[in-house]
Amino acid sequence: MQTEPSYIGRFAPSPTGPLHFGSLVAALGSWLFARQAGGRWLVRIEDLDPPREVPGAAERQLATLVAFGLVPDEAPWFQSTRGDAYAAALATLLASGDAFECHCSRSDLEASGGVHRRCVGQPRPGRPPAIRLRLPDGELAFHDRIQGEFRQDLGREAGDVVLRRADGFWAYQLAVVVDDGAQGITDIVRGADLLDSTPRQIYLQQRLGLPTPAYAHLPVVHDAQGRKLGKSLAALPVHDHDPMPALRAAWLFLGQDPAQLPAAGTPAQVLPAAVPAFDPTRIPRENRWSPVQGK
Ligand code: GLU
Repeated sequence: MQTEPSYIGRFAPSPTGPLHFGSLVAALGSWLFARQAGGRWLVRIEDLDPPREVPGAAERQLATLVAFGLVPDEAPWFQSTRGDAYAAALATLLASGDAFECHCSRSDLEASGGVHRRCVGQPRPGRPPAIRLRLPDGELAFHDRIQGEFRQDLGREAGDVVLRRADGFWAYQLAVVVDDGAQGITDIVRGADLLDSTPRQIYLQQRLGLPTPAYAHLPVVHDAQGRKLGKSLAALPVHDHDPMPALRAAWLFLGQDPAQLPAAGTPAQVLPAAVPAFDPTRIPRENRWSPVQGK
């Protein structure tokens, strides 16, 4: 009898450019957790925002992962092909009254710091509504393997979350929850820049009747100016033709013992050897150093 694997992890990059050091850390961290648990590791391309995407970036990112020895166990999913699943989830949420049409513009929400609690905008000709998820008042807490206990007042801090944008694009928060559920993801390992989004994702899982995975949020990589690496000009691409320096830096960034990553060999040779030595308790909660310091 086929049994379900007890651990399914994933790496979910957005194809907005070449894989940078920050995403390599997330890819390696999620791969190490999955492999150490004897589980599966999947890759999902989050290509839901065409204006921000770079043609060919997804293919390049996938090639970079392979060059770094990070090979998914199944063909990657592309969120751009998943519209029917998001539409079905949205229909469920509209039918239950959890989701509602909203005409508020960005400027309508300025007074409340962008947090939506009730509609203040008016319908405008030619501008379709966004669809939002109604978030309740009150705290939602969860335990993160690295960050510990995290709690957030959903209504006050998150506000009603956009599920489908007024321009018709699916929002990340809906797509990530639907796909993590559809792929049977049991463990989410990703950058701590997404810690803030997790309580609203857990709430959405609950409204859709989906299980809540375990979470581990890795320290975020910053550049020398303290900007999150992915957002800064210093988001240096990692080199497919010479992967070992960046792989070693990512291993160190995750707080791991340098002696445990074999000095010689390709990533595909050294990584399996490093899996038994991977020690999640050594991962720092916060970023302590930058790979681009002094640049
Ligand atoms: N696509 C998101 C990003 O690149 C990550 C989503 C996730 O891991 O939940 O920031």
